Amino acid sequence: MLVFRDPQKLQRWALKQREAGVRVGLVPTMGYLHEGHLSLIAAAKKYADAVVVSVFVNPIQFGPNEDFEKYPRDEKADLAKCRAAGAAAVFLPTPQTMYAPDASVHVTEEVLANRLCGLRRPGHFRGVCTVVAKLFNLAQPNVAVFGQKDFQQACVIRRMVRDLNFPIRIVVAPIVREPDGLARSSRNTYLSETERQQAVGLSRSLHLAKRLFREGQTSAKRIVARMVKSLEADGLQVDYVEIVDAETLDPVKTVQKGNAVLLAVYDGKTRLIDNCLFS
Ligand code: AMP
Repeated sequence: MLVFRDPQKLQRWALKQREAGVRVGLVPTMGYLHEGHLSLIAAAKKYADAVVVSVFVNPIQFGPNEDFEKYPRDEKADLAKCRAAGAAAVFLPTPQTMYAPDASVHVTEEVLANRLCGLRRPGHFRGVCTVVAKLFNLAQPNVAVFGQKDFQQACVIRRMVRDLNFPIRIVVAPIVREPDGLARSSRNTYLSETERQQAVGLSRSLHLAKRLFREGQTSAKRIVARMVKSLEADGLQVDYVEIVDAETLDPVKTVQKGNAVLLAVYDGKTRLIDNCLFS
């Protein structure tokens, strides 16, 4: 497995792969890899001959009071996991190698990024789009794989790829969960034992939403109200719960198959997100 720290070296290698007809897959991550990330690598291998995993805690997608400094990092374990998962290369840049001190070009998606998490985390999706656009230029992938876990992120990236004509296929892989339903996340390591138990409330509320819809409830307002009650009963502080069109992220009043329910809560000080589609 190749390890690149220098962006230019990765780009040189990637261009050569493309020239040689090797299909490149990219899995962008912030590291501290878990089963969710590994499922993305496995998905990427289905579409690509060589999978590049990037591990980069991207400072420009964190707000001033967010967890950039304390975000968990474990380079050695990440490399071992990527090797075991069959990655062809890992890209490990630093903020210094990624961003010129006077960098002045950013990528902004102006509609989808202004909803849900984007409202609560100003600048977050600008940071995400910018780093992903750079990773696309560096790794030259034919295909890039993202997780449904970050539903809004996947929508924003798809829109960026469409509107800026990146010749890249975007694949979105399903959410990998713990046995009790909690979506795998590097941030789960922040949770105390009690908070970890409360965290099952996220997937419990999503199950409730799906059950209500199956039983014939189509009022988004009613479903959301029941979810909020359930989340609060589980000791979680609701940031938002919204039912939206899965592509435009427009809020819906009447729930239909294919709509998505997205939520963000605070479990103690840790902000957790989850989502599912109505089927
Ligand atoms: P992160 O390292 O948290 O920035 O995530 C990197 C990629 O892995 C993103 O595309 C996430 O959506 C995806 N991901 C994170 N957690 C999961 C999960 N539990 N299941 C599937 N994909 C995930």
